[in-house]
Amino acid sequence: MNSQTSVDYIIVGQGLAGSCLALQLLQENKRIVAIDEFDEHAATQVAAGLFNPITGRVMTKTWKADVLFPYLHDFYRDAETLTGERFFHPMPLYRPFLSIEEQNEWMGKSAHAGLEKYIDAVHTHEVNPGMVRNPYGGLTLKNAGWLDTMKFTKAVRNYLSQNGIFLDGKFDDENLKLINGEVHYLNYRARKIIFCQGVKALKSKLFSWLPIKPLKGETLTLQTEVNAEAIFNRGVFVVPGIWKVGATYQPNDLEPAITTAAREELQGKLDELISFPYRIITQDWGIRPTTPDRRPILGPHPEWPQAIVFNGLGTKGVSLAPYFSAVLAAWIENRGPINKEVDIERYKHYNYGGNIPR
Ligand SMILES: Cc1cc2nc3c(=O)[nH]c(=O)nc-3n(C[C@H](O)[C@H](O)[C@H](O)COP(=O)(O)OP(=O)(O)OC[C@H]3O[C@@H](n4cnc5c(N)ncnc54)[C@H](O)[C@@H]3O)c2cc1C
Repeated sequence: MNSQTSVDYIIVGQGLAGSCLALQLLQENKRIVAIDEFDEHAATQVAAGLFNPITGRVMTKTWKADVLFPYLHDFYRDAETLTGERFFHPMPLYRPFLSIEEQNEWMGKSAHAGLEKYIDAVHTHEVNPGMVRNPYGGLTLKNAGWLDTMKFTKAVRNYLSQNGIFLDGKFDDENLKLINGEVHYLNYRARKIIFCQGVKALKSKLFSWLPIKPLKGETLTLQTEVNAEAIFNRGVFVVPGIWKVGATYQPNDLEPAITTAAREELQGKLDELISFPYRIITQDWGIRPTTPDRRPILGPHPEWPQAIVFNGLGTKGVSLAPYFSAVLAAWIENRGPINKEVDIERYKHYNYGGNIPR
């Protein structure tokens, strides 16, 4: 006779989304099993892991920064304590000014309500000589930093494996059955199944209808003898320690390979930003799961409510995943709503028919 293992939730995919959700559900003493087939080009494995509260060409506060940033701090610190690994690196971010005009603009802007908790200093003279080109000074941001996303997901994977709740390998839709409001997968029976597949959702049976837009990006990794205590950012970012440089945005290129064009673009911008010697040792590519409105997608399948999605983390998975995994975990347990802006409801008019595993 086949013995069945009963769990509360099956999680498919263990990138940033699946890892954060697994930790949230374990925190609530839920019985889970996570299934992941490691992919070195999954967005999480390639990301530089930056979190930065003020972004964009015109440098504005990122969406929900006042909620997301305090939350992510405690979340990743707790994850370090749980796993006994170190992967969270809060660190100032330094952005050189390109002109006196920009310097003046920031002298005024820095006093604006709401920005003071993210601006550490507005420098009107060169700082970090020999490291970064900044003849007009620059802006030091606080509440920024980077997550070693590879190390974080590895630590979570090890933790899940040690607790016997990790299946290493491909999740195959053919073995999924949704019967009587329950989920059956191989010898597992669960209340719900949550798909955290990144861009691979586009090949899934249940959620391929969602408007996940793949956005390729490439990074460089440097070797250098220098030490730095801040992330440098202008055109590209440079993360000290791992010395990652990135990232490109290549919406019209989904070739599974690195490109000369990306390398030249990154190197060109890097040479405008920094003044220390370096050697490029690797170049990587990965695909971000973005959405048309740049908001994550959370919630149940319109017809099969025991199948849930957590996706669309786009270019900011490090700062979005902790908070929105908490929102999703609370919603699953009937303890809170899903924010309208991220609710799968907004796409319910899409055609989701076909292929449902019964
Ligand atoms: C070049 C680059 C730079 C980036 N830099 C940053 C940055 O600095 N800061 C930031 O916040 N974000 C950054 N991002 C974005 C960030 O990486 C993503 O938002 C985030 O990693 C998405 O996580 P995810 O878990 O949704 O998807 P993924 O990372 O794609 O993880 C999905 C996982 O599910 C697995 N999976 C899917 N289907 C199956 C299946 N059928 N069976 C088994 N396993 C399956 C995949 O193999 C994978 O392991 C960057 C992305 C790229 C590409």
